[in-house]
Parts: sequence; structure tokens; C-alpha cells
Amino acid sequence: MTEHVTVRDDDADVIVVGAGPSGSTAAHYLAQAGLDVLLIEKSRFPREKVCGDGLTPRAVKALIALGVDVSEEAGWLRNKGLRVIAGGMRLELDWPELSSYPGYGLVRTRASLDEQLARRAQAAGAKLLEGTTVTGPLLDADGRIVGVQTQAEEKPKARSKSDNTEREHGATVTYRARVVVAADGNSSRLSVAMGLRKRDDRPMGVAVRTYYTSPRHEDDYLESWLDLWDGDRLLPGYGWIFGMGDGTSNVGLGMLNTSDAFGKTDYRELLNRWLRSMPEEWGYTEENRTEPVRGAALPMGFNRTPQYREGLLLAGDAAGMVNPFNGEGIAYAMESGEILARVVAQALARPTRAETERVLRSYPEELQAAYGRYYTLGRIFVELIGRPRLMRYATSRGMNHPQLMRFALKLLANLTDPRDGDASDRIISAMTRLAPASR
Ligand SMILES: Cc1cc2nc3c(=O)[nH]c(=O)nc-3n(C[C@H](O)[C@H](O)[C@H](O)COP(=O)(O)OP(=O)(O)OC[C@H]3O[C@@H](n4cnc5c(N)ncnc54)[C@H](O)[C@@H]3O)c2cc1C
Repeated sequence: MTEHVTVRDDDADVIVVGAGPSGSTAAHYLAQAGLDVLLIEKSRFPREKVCGDGLTPRAVKALIALGVDVSEEAGWLRNKGLRVIAGGMRLELDWPELSSYPGYGLVRTRASLDEQLARRAQAAGAKLLEGTTVTGPLLDADGRIVGVQTQAEEKPKARSKSDNTEREHGATVTYRARVVVAADGNSSRLSVAMGLRKRDDRPMGVAVRTYYTSPRHEDDYLESWLDLWDGDRLLPGYGWIFGMGDGTSNVGLGMLNTSDAFGKTDYRELLNRWLRSMPEEWGYTEENRTEPVRGAALPMGFNRTPQYREGLLLAGDAAGMVNPFNGEGIAYAMESGEILARVVAQALARPTRAETERVLRSYPEELQAAYGRYYTLGRIFVELIGRPRLMRYATSRGMNHPQLMRFALKLLANLTDPRDGDASDRIISAMTRLAPASR
């Protein structure tokens, strides 16, 4: 077994680790700005990612900005809004009519969405390395990241007589760049290796999901369950049913770390109990399940800070950027990827290292300006909904007041017009302005 270790000089201006929505978007805009970009992904596309597969108008806007064809002819399933189910009532709330965001959402499997985004990055000029895991940072004498160490996928070599597959060790290669981006998701081993850990004072969610063949596979609305019942027993958590348009529904549930049941619950069993109370004709039964039940964490409200340190910038889940109000992460991953690319393009165009550094250090401030106060409100919201009685009171009141729920939808999905909006937009802007930043 041979191990090849190669060290190269500057392989790129920027190395982006992870080709999920944040990494591919960052790589796309960096390449578009004329930089040499190396995008390194441990899996190979198409690859699965545990997700609800739901895209709000915020994510649609980010996709359109990237030049993705989001037409129905191109296979995208559109939705008109959110159906909220709570306290035995259901309310269909259309996405708001705004000049800042389109009036529709989308649904797409992550296998397909993420591959499309990675291909967009390639089309813009980024070099994509699939099947290559970043195993650690390459540091200079001052502890600054100047590249990454990688391990290429092991490849089956030959079959031995005992039928054990012999494996050829993948090559170990070190790549160098002026700046490195951690877009490697919730665990972000690269951030951890640079001393950037998750924060205990920020919200965290856990969610599980699977797919069932179902007559409900085509749905004009994303469906959100604010209370889950097993017969007449109220269960902890929140659920969703998103029709995928391909014969299946994506069904899942999640819980926040402000809930007493967080960390003490068998989430798969909880899903079973919730689904037992569903109408039989929807088909959410074991026989119709097409995938295993899989779970993952949702790091929220700047769960990892600072988002820049010693040559490393964080985007998307690596920076804990899921919206605490609604668990949406794809839009924020893509938006942070774009903000990051803008900052890095300016930074690398500065003539001295000191100036480059000054611009890179502005990245956390840019994220603060975009989301800091809104995430502070989100943290308060997460504390409140961790109290089941209060939550039940609020939803039972709200469900009888569609106007109030339309306001809530704008706030929770972060969909407002900053200028020329209506009264609810102005109230949300005022609330956000008054909230302290998320330091
Ligand atoms: C159950 C569940 C349901 C959800 N539902 C929704 C939803 O409906 N809508 C929504 O907007 N958000 C949803 N989210 C959140 C959303 O999935 C994330 O916020 C989003 O995927 C973040 O994108 P990202 O690019 O930052 O990270 P990721 O999508 O996690 O991408 C990280 C990439 O980095 C790669 N990688 C990791 N480590 C390495 C390494 N060492 N070397 C190389 N590559 C590496 C991974 O393979 C992966 O491709 C959900 C999350 C969960 C858990």
C-alpha cells in the first residue's frame, strides 16, 4: 500500500471546503470575480443530505441570482405558501407579495439541488474535487491557515480469493491558498481544528426525516405542524409534510434545545407515534417508506463565532446560520456564501497583506449587519416556544386571526420589503432595528 504525499505551492487563491449550498455559492461568486477557486467535497454527486427539501422565496431569490433555471419545465415543484396546522385548525398562508422576493417557494431533493449548485460553481470556473476529504488545516509558523490537508477516497483495487475487497489508499495531498473557507456543515471539523467551537448560548435544533410514497406528493403548500399529537397526547416538537412531486412526501419533525424533551427523546419513535395519527389514505406507513429515517442537527442564530479567524472564513451551517424562527438553512447558507465571496474578492485585491487582513476582518461585521439583530429576535422566539403552555396559547389565538398569522409568516420566514413595504413590514423592520446585535 503506497501513500502519496504531495505538497504544492499556491494551488488557488481560495480553497472552499464543502460543496453544499454555502460552499458552492461562495465558489461560484469567487470564480465569477476572477479568482482561482478550489472547491473540495468529500462525497461524490449526486449525494444525499438530510433535509426537508423545502425552499422559501428567500432561497428561490438566491437560486435565481446564481442563474439556476427554476422553471417548472426544468423539474422544480412550486408552492404558493405555508399551510399551518395547529390546535386542530389549518390555515393556508400565501407567501407575501413583495418587490424584494418572488411570490413562490420550491421543493427539490438535496441530491439534485446540491449537484446543480456545484455544477454552477464549476461553470463559473471553480475547480471541483469530489471524493476528497479535508483532514486538517495547513498552518504557517504563526498559526495562520495557509491551506488544507486532504485524503482522496479509497478506491477498490482488486478482489482477493477470500472475496475481501482490497483497497488502494487514496492519495494524501496538501493544497495551499491565500484564504480558506469552511463550508463543511454543522460539524465543521476544519473550524474546530482552528479552535472555533459551537456556542452553548445559541439555539440548536435536531430533526429527523424520511420519505413515503403518498397521494399527497403534489401539494401547493409547504405544510407545517405546530403541534404533534399521538391520540389525545401532545408530543414535543414540530413537524412538516412537503410533497416532492415525484410520488413521495418528505415527512419529518424537529425539536429545539429550549424544549425539556431535547436530547431525551427517541426521535424516530416520536415520528412513528405522530404518523400513527395520520389519515390512512395519506399512506405514511412502514410499507410505503422509501428511505431510512435519518436525523441531523440544525445550528442556529450564529452558533459558531467569530466567522473569521487567521485566514479561515465560515459560511452556512459551519457558522451556525440556520434561521432560529423557522429552521430554514439553505437560503442563509447561500446568502452567506455570497457575502463571503464579496468580502474575499475585495480583500485579495488589496496590495498589502495588512490591508487584505483588514478587509477579511470585516466579514463578521457584514454578517452582523445582515442578520445579527434578526437572529437576536429569533433567540427570544426560541426561548418562548420552548414553553409549551405559552406556545399553545399563542397558536390557538393566532390561528383564529389570519391577519396576525400573515404577519407571523413574514417575521418567521424573514420576508419583508425594507423600503416601500406595508405596515407589517415597517413593524418588523422597527422590531429588528430595536433588537441588540448577536455578539
Ligand atoms: C432534518 C433537517 C431538515 C432540514 N430542512 C430544511 C429545509 O426544508 N429547508 C432549508 O432551507 N433548510 C433545511 N435544513 C437545514 C439545511 O439542510 C442546512 O442549513 C444546509 O444544508 C446548510 O448548507 P451548508 O452548505 O452550509 O452545509 P451542508 O449542506 O451540510 O454541506 C456541507 C458539505 O461539506 C461536505 N464536507 C463536510 N466535511 C467535509 C470535509 N472534511 N472535506 C470535504 N467536504 C466536507 C459535506 O459532504 C457537504 O457536502 C434542514 C436540516 C435538517 C437536519
